[in-house]
Amino acid sequence: MVNIPEIKKTLLEEKARLEGELAEVGHKNPEIKGDWSPSAPDLNNPTADPADNADSIEEFEKNAALEVELEAMLMEVDVALNKIEAGTYGKCRVCKAPIEEARLKANPSAQTCIAHREG
Ligand SMILES: [Zn+2]
Repeated sequence: MVNIPEIKKTLLEEKARLEGELAEVGHKNPEIKGDWSPSAPDLNNPTADPADNADSIEEFEKNAALEVELEAMLMEVDVALNKIEAGTYGKCRVCKAPIEEARLKANPSAQTCIAHREG
């Protein structure tokens, strides 16, 4: 039997960790709940030399890629938490069978059983 309170605790910790990392590479969209945007580089700084601006753009692109990845992970954690609240947590999205406990332990936000794992 899957220990839901334990899983929920793990998911909430993961959520806090992801939000902390997101806060470093982006900022919350105040208009859309759960949406984040990568922080834009400050290119209007008149004292910055062009090399610095190039660095900023490179940094921005790296942050933007990381931001997208973190946001996707955060979304999966939220989906799992919502399922816990709805009482539908731990069922495969494809065949509706219970997801293997070992799989949920390895990835608490998994939405499919091992047989229907994607990728
Ligand atoms: Zn399945």
